[in-house]
Amino acid sequence: MNWIKKVFTISDKIKKILKKRPTKEDIENSKWISCCGPILKTDLNDNQWVCNKCGRHHKVSSRERFNIFFGKNNYEILKTPIPKDDPLKWVDSKKYIDRLNEARKKTGQDCAVMIAVGKVDDINVTVGAINFNFIGGSIGTAEGEAIIYGIQHAIDNNNPFIIFTTSGGQRMHESPLALMQMTRTTLAINELKNNNLPYIVCFTSDTAGGVTASFGSLGDIAIAETGSNIIFAGKRVIESTVNEKLPDDFQSADFTKKHGFVDMVVDRKDIKKVISNILSILLKKHSKEINENNLNDVEYDNVNTKEAS
Ligand SMILES: [Zn+2]
Repeated sequence: MNWIKKVFTISDKIKKILKKRPTKEDIENSKWISCCGPILKTDLNDNQWVCNKCGRHHKVSSRERFNIFFGKNNYEILKTPIPKDDPLKWVDSKKYIDRLNEARKKTGQDCAVMIAVGKVDDINVTVGAINFNFIGGSIGTAEGEAIIYGIQHAIDNNNPFIIFTTSGGQRMHESPLALMQMTRTTLAINELKNNNLPYIVCFTSDTAGGVTASFGSLGDIAIAETGSNIIFAGKRVIESTVNEKLPDDFQSADFTKKHGFVDMVVDRKDIKKVISNILSILLKKHSKEINENNLNDVEYDNVNTKEAS
């Protein structure tokens, strides 16, 4: 075999190896997930999708969030209205309607937001959770409708409203119709507050853009889940605008807490307990039972939180 044939044979072998690399579907269907090392998805699931070794809080779907918050099968999912799909007939590198159908198939959700009702200890609550895997948790008309439906349900049933956010912002495929949801959800939150009902926001994973700039920032209490980032414009965009290097931890949960944007940073496993305590105080329930010891059960400031020195 001459050297030219050798080179081509080697290159064919390399191509065969490269072809064997896992596809996106292979990775999604795999039993393993990548973190500080490979971890079995079942092990992560058993630990509320938090890595046992490095403590990383992995993204969870809306249903997984409800399972963690309420306990499995301990809640009811509400059917929220779905407006007309793809009103602008949007096409970019592919049709928006195809993206929607793929997201629905992948997540088993009608839209990125799900609303559930259940109890936290003995308090009835209406809870929303965004799924980042549904087109980046972006907010379009269906998501806006779901959030407003959840808030109306809270008002009708005299329930506090809690939302777990994670989102890239408003859905560009729906353009101004998506932007309108910022105003609509803000007005709905105002109605909730007019009814003197508590509103708690829990920022998770990455929450950015229009969600941070609307209902995400209106909570009576703002909690950041450990490891989350709370963003409006991205760090690089801001750096290039102000022409200044920003701190490495800019927009992290700890950074935003240090600068007063959120009230506390809490580990996933403690969120239910913290919210239960907060609601007990806000609703003046069991006022005799709530004391300093109860609140100090969770050491908020020791949860990856550096106090300003
Ligand atoms: Zn890890």
